[in-house]
Amino acid sequence: MAGRKLLLDNVHIPGIETFEVYRNNGGYKSVEKALKSMTPDEVVEEVKKSGLRGRGGAGFPTGMKWSFLAKPEGVPRYLVCNADESEPGTFKDRYLMEKIPHLLVEGMITSSYALGANYSVIYIRGEYFWILDILQKAIKEAYNNGFLGKNILGTGYNLDMIVAPGAGAYICGEETALLESLEGKRGNPRMKPPFPAVKGLWGNPTVVNNVETIAAVVPIVNLGGDEYAKIGVGRSTGTKLISACGNLVRPGVYEIEMGVSVEEFIYGDEYCRGIANGRKLKACVPGGSSVPILPHFLVTKTADGQDRLMTYESLADGGFATGSMLGSGGFIVFDENQCVVRNTWNFARFYAHESCGQCSPCREGTGWMEKVLNRLEHGHGNMRDIDLLAEINKKIEGNTICPLGDAAAWPVAAAIRHFREEFEWHVNERETSQKRNFGLISEKNNVILTNS
Ligand code: SF4
Repeated sequence: MAGRKLLLDNVHIPGIETFEVYRNNGGYKSVEKALKSMTPDEVVEEVKKSGLRGRGGAGFPTGMKWSFLAKPEGVPRYLVCNADESEPGTFKDRYLMEKIPHLLVEGMITSSYALGANYSVIYIRGEYFWILDILQKAIKEAYNNGFLGKNILGTGYNLDMIVAPGAGAYICGEETALLESLEGKRGNPRMKPPFPAVKGLWGNPTVVNNVETIAAVVPIVNLGGDEYAKIGVGRSTGTKLISACGNLVRPGVYEIEMGVSVEEFIYGDEYCRGIANGRKLKACVPGGSSVPILPHFLVTKTADGQDRLMTYESLADGGFATGSMLGSGGFIVFDENQCVVRNTWNFARFYAHESCGQCSPCREGTGWMEKVLNRLEHGHGNMRDIDLLAEINKKIEGNTICPLGDAAAWPVAAAIRHFREEFEWHVNERETSQKRNFGLISEKNNVILTNS
């Protein structure tokens, strides 16, 4: 299946990061079209028709989110771009911003117009410091060429845009924590409601959208929502950026049409070209570190034998018992030599470190899970620890202020569900995965690990 590209089609053109080259290759047409021939409500309607769903992880319909924006008279509204991409395994927004920054700036202008916002912010994670410069340059070029500032293209529409760097906290990717951080406070998630659409940045109505979501508004306006919706399968419309990493022949960032099979994505010539070094696929985390891991027999097929597709619905088929999530599009592949316990511990360390500490189940639970996984991984655990992990999970899931608690719990629960034998091996053999990887364990144990 040849992939149609709507976001990265021009990414290989030399100089595309500059205004001149971007404009000469059809850039900023969506701004011209929207501002000169459409009302803001018509732009919102096209986004609704397109079926676009948030590309940051949750997959909530973007047009519906926009329609929730409160519009009290005389109160400013804001568009905030969430560029705080920090989920382990996810690096597709980084690629887009680095290679084709004007696509994001164009999407921000068109989206701000649709929302009636005259001030917009790109909140970028602090570690992307070199992209901060790239975006600032792109914004300056847009100002210099009349696409930002007062009376854009002579239409009377005014928009200012800034880039604000975060300080490196994963939790600032949660939209209300991001807003707290933008306001100069510690990035703690807020209790919801009120949602940002009613009370967001500085108490005013605000839409927070992911980088890829905002960029997708450009082809939606150019093509029309109906045309965009023809791409993809069912409720998963359009294209999606996937960052593929792990033990693959050709890891990288790919733009796929929604509905490509997982089999084709992993093994196809156009995409990842199979598992590196001739090894076998062992498992896959298809949507960033916070989604459930799938064992090899559930990666390319669903539990009832259907082809697994790269869509929101197909990847979730079977619920958490036999499915996972498309999530942020961070596609992490493990070969037969990788240890699930070690990987689960690694993810748990991340979440324990990144918990903001506001709510007890997350603050205490993530740290506790990390300690238990640490002793299991290093050969000091016992069988009771495996059940203890499952119990801690239940106490965290659904009992926290923000989704970080669930994000920490789901990967551990799925790893135990699908790879319990591997956890038991660590208890029974009192060995570490490092020793195993250096060939210090018996072939018998290796068979147990690779067949699980
Ligand atoms: Fe903070 Fe964790 Fe509670 Fe989210 S779930 S508010 S990160 S303590």
